Amino acid sequence: MKKILVLEDETSIRSFVVINLKRAGYDPIEAGTGAEAFERIKENPDIKVALLDIMLPDTDGFEVCRILRAADPHMGIIMLTARTQEMDKVTGLMTGADDYVTKPFSPAELTARVDALYRRIGGVEQVDTGEIAQGPFKLNTRNRTLEKNGQRIKLTQVEYSIMKMFMDNPGKALSREDILNMVWGRDYFGELKIVDVNIRRLRIKIEDDSTNPTYITTVWGYGYKWGF
Ligand code: CA
Repeated sequence: MKKILVLEDETSIRSFVVINLKRAGYDPIEAGTGAEAFERIKENPDIKVALLDIMLPDTDGFEVCRILRAADPHMGIIMLTARTQEMDKVTGLMTGADDYVTKPFSPAELTARVDALYRRIGGVEQVDTGEIAQGPFKLNTRNRTLEKNGQRIKLTQVEYSIMKMFMDNPGKALSREDILNMVWGRDYFGELKIVDVNIRRLRIKIEDDSTNPTYITTVWGYGYKWGF
């Protein structure tokens, strides 16, 4: 069974999420506080995806996200954002979330996001052999790892997918729509902003100076380009 952590303190919302995830074939593991969430994860190391509410009695979802992400770069994390402020979404993504769903959400929207994330993290990736080496970077497509000058850089699954896309398309300007389609899939109905936030996070990890990026450059009014 595909286990999903559901961290939400409001029982009515949690039941709604749990019922719909069960209907979609998932095995939801429930938690109402940050402390409970870490307990459940310890008991269920096979949890691959976590849904995190932000406002919690003992902590906030961003902090839980940061800790989960530090412990497991491969876990899929979706924030359940109550407010519609852009800052919430950006903060969530900057602390390592892969996606967010804004409340109130429909069951269809929630399960579409979870399905998409599950496909990306656990999906059967086409197994190609070996490495792509460009400049100081070496991408190992078997282990899905990245090295810069021989030093391992920890990437989330989404960040890995973005790097792979760039390294498959060196020197080519890619529109934000192209990137959304290639990395998140055509059936993803999120916002283009998610592309910018993930690229911002990736730049912090791979650029010498993320405020003056030289590998992932911005193509104004269009998108991004990978090159040297
Ligand atoms: Ca809450």
